[in-house]
Amino acid sequence: MSAQVKIEGLSLAYGAGETAVLALDRITLTSDRGQVLGLVGESGSGKSTLGFALGRLLPQGVRPTEGRVEICGLDVWNAEIRALRALRRKRLRFIFQDPVSSLDPTRRIGRQIAEAVDPVADRAALLSIMDEVGLHDHDRVLSAWPHQLSGGMAQRVAIAIALIAEPDVIVADEATSALDASVRARILALLRERAKARGITLWLLSHDLHAVRRYCDRVAVMYAGRIVEEGPLPAVFDAPAHPYTAALLAATPGLERPGETLPTIPGTVKPHRRAAVDCAFAARCAHARPDRCRTERPEPLSVGTGRSVLCHFPLLKQGTP
Ligand code: SF4
Repeated sequence: MSAQVKIEGLSLAYGAGETAVLALDRITLTSDRGQVLGLVGESGSGKSTLGFALGRLLPQGVRPTEGRVEICGLDVWNAEIRALRALRRKRLRFIFQDPVSSLDPTRRIGRQIAEAVDPVADRAALLSIMDEVGLHDHDRVLSAWPHQLSGGMAQRVAIAIALIAEPDVIVADEATSALDASVRARILALLRERAKARGITLWLLSHDLHAVRRYCDRVAVMYAGRIVEEGPLPAVFDAPAHPYTAALLAATPGLERPGETLPTIPGTVKPHRRAAVDCAFAARCAHARPDRCRTERPEPLSVGTGRSVLCHFPLLKQGTP
């Protein structure tokens, strides 16, 4: 399988110099065709920033300091604006968390769909996708203005637009948060099925660890702008190697181990400075050893096939198969 998403040493920062705060810190990650990757972590961990970095969509005040992003062979950070627009229009589609504001309020839904697809997919294919995402009243939806749709309907429209475009990569940021549980499961299953059938690389950015476990092939756990653990599911969730992954799972109802009570992770994610020399998780980590964790930044360690962890003292030993 070939990598459709390739990120090498990507750092994004607020501010400049040694006091710059890192929004992303030396991210290296690849995703193959047809792979479904879950990106998880608390709010402020950097997962949305990383997702949108694929399309060079940066939060205000953030700038790249090093690294490279390649989508389907295009060097995104150095691409001309025309190539970038073409990428976003056809090959890389986003499904945003806030469905209504992701639609253009000045255009009817039918027109937005037509603009998203070039050439316009045949009507039968469009109606079939609308049915699959639960938009059965075709004419009413296509003639509606965004403000006339509920949040759930707008989210289905955004998903339909992403699918009808037949992109190579889809980044879905909490893409089903406005839907009720049974519809959410159906749409996540549909997204996964399309990814597998069409070779779409699908990134699911989510707080819902149950959904990530069920629908993803791999998971990347983020903390303070770094990927602290990455590897195949269910191996990572069954035997987390990073103390943060373990704490995140232990705090999720239904994913704790038998007999475990649900602890919370004390404290919050703090932004990490470029000049910092410690592990960003040290202040919250039950396994921290001050002599090393407060004085040395961890670098990725291999803890098994296709699996890495960013910790001096991983819960799984280095080289575990
Ligand atoms: Fe905890 Fe130290 Fe590992 Fe950081 S490097 S996660 S503080 S054990």
